[in-house]
Amino acid sequence: MRNTRQKQAIRDAFERAGRPLSTEEVHGDAARASRGLGMATVYRSIRSLLDDGWLSVVEVPGRSPLYEIAGKGHHHHFSCTACARVYELEGCASVSAELPRGFTASGHELTFYGVCAACSPKAR
Ligand SMILES: [Zn+2]
Ligand SMILES: [Zn+2]
Repeated sequence: MRNTRQKQAIRDAFERAGRPLSTEEVHGDAARASRGLGMATVYRSIRSLLDDGWLSVVEVPGRSPLYEIAGKGHHHHFSCTACARVYELEGCASVSAELPRGFTASGHELTFYGVCAACSPKAR
């Protein structure tokens, strides 16, 4: 029962955020709803939600993995270099790359870097 409630607190954290979260961010948010929630439990619950197919891994180069709710369509991410939050971008940027003769691409991965609106000097 306890496990179920903790897993629910972690699911809620992802649903509230609407963007990929690191283990630390999940812990920070879920620990407010579920008192005494430890990092080890967060790791275990994330592992279990990955096994359930509810979460998927988001790889951002140079960072520890983040997680997002699985089953979304093809999309990209924006990584803020100021606050380290990662945001989900709608749809696909037009990507153009010259493929060598005889090569066929079956997909691509793309991460944008920069400063988010909250960290932008203009927003202050
Ligand atoms: Zn930011
Ligand atoms: Zn794309």
